[in-house]
Amino acid sequence: MSQYWSKVVHGLTPYVPGEQPKLNDMIKLNTNENPYPPSPKVLAAIQAAASGDLRLYPDPNADQLKQAIADYYYVAPSQVFLGNSSDEVLAHTFLALLKHEKPILFPDITYSFYPVYCGLYEIASRQIPLREDFSLDTDDYLVPNGGIIFPNPNAPTGRLLVLDEIERLLIGTPDSVVVVDEAYVDFGGVSAIALVNKYANLLVIQTLSKARSLAGLRVGLAIGHPDLIAALERVKNSFNSYPLDRLAIAGASAAFADTEYFRQTCAAVMATRSVLVNDLEQMGFEVVPSSANFVLIKHLKHDARQLQAYLRSKAIIVRHFNQARIAQHLRVTIGTDDQCRQLVHALNSFLTADPPNS
Ligand SMILES: *Cc1c(COP(=O)(O)O)cnc(C)c1O
Repeated sequence: MSQYWSKVVHGLTPYVPGEQPKLNDMIKLNTNENPYPPSPKVLAAIQAAASGDLRLYPDPNADQLKQAIADYYYVAPSQVFLGNSSDEVLAHTFLALLKHEKPILFPDITYSFYPVYCGLYEIASRQIPLREDFSLDTDDYLVPNGGIIFPNPNAPTGRLLVLDEIERLLIGTPDSVVVVDEAYVDFGGVSAIALVNKYANLLVIQTLSKARSLAGLRVGLAIGHPDLIAALERVKNSFNSYPLDRLAIAGASAAFADTEYFRQTCAAVMATRSVLVNDLEQMGFEVVPSSANFVLIKHLKHDARQLQAYLRSKAIIVRHFNQARIAQHLRVTIGTDDQCRQLVHALNSFLTADPPNS
């Protein structure tokens, strides 16, 4: 009954998340989840927290988790902000730090939630085309702007921008906040957190959803100068004082304590990625160089949607973006070795059953 809707709701273009199938026997390579379960220590910590204490509100500041993250990254707890997912941290960032007179800048091919937040908060934006090979040219961003945001590695391309280039941006636009969304940084990138003590205009956002196998727990974080964090806290405390529940605080704190498990699972994903990239190239796919737990691929002789539909008929789900420049690409999450073998097998049978007529 849209007569009851507010004007802002009529104008929204919401984000469309990748499918979460109700069937369990699918090979799910469409939303960049980790194929490995969370650390057993995380599960034990969550089980221990599942007690009668759940009648009590959680710590609104989640000090235990802030301290764990501060220790892990060698920053002060006052440089850490927490949210119920990095999507929530991003949302607060758009309102707190990116809503100014001038338009904010982000790549034309990037995380599709950014334009959604711009719509929600009525933030002007300009999309800057990536180069032909999907690399980001920092020179394009050295223009008057209300802020800059991009994922590093970028999504859905997987391409990594080196820290020197990020530093050029921070120096070149000292009056704007530069937000680096590091959802995938642990799969082969270098974190810009190393630069937060040097640049007061840098905010780094991370999530526990990808490299730490906790997409179901919904924990995200930001690290930056205490003044930037204070702005985020003001928005958070005007929205929801308790974004992290008791189970999330316990589980996420344990995740940062178990570095051994974290390193092993990240290394496994990276090893699988290099085998998969090689197999895909052998089959005639173009693969964008990836530092993430997914690859963006394109077959020179086959339509992306047809490939996607064929994989689906073999119970393998991958992501297609109906967007200029990548409409003939598919984004494929790195699964286990076995899942990737099944993917390669299915692609092989498609390519042999349906040889291109060219
Ligand atoms: C997955 C992803 C997020 C969201 O992570 P959540 O913490 O699960 O909300 C943010 N940014 C990028 C680029 C992502 O790919």
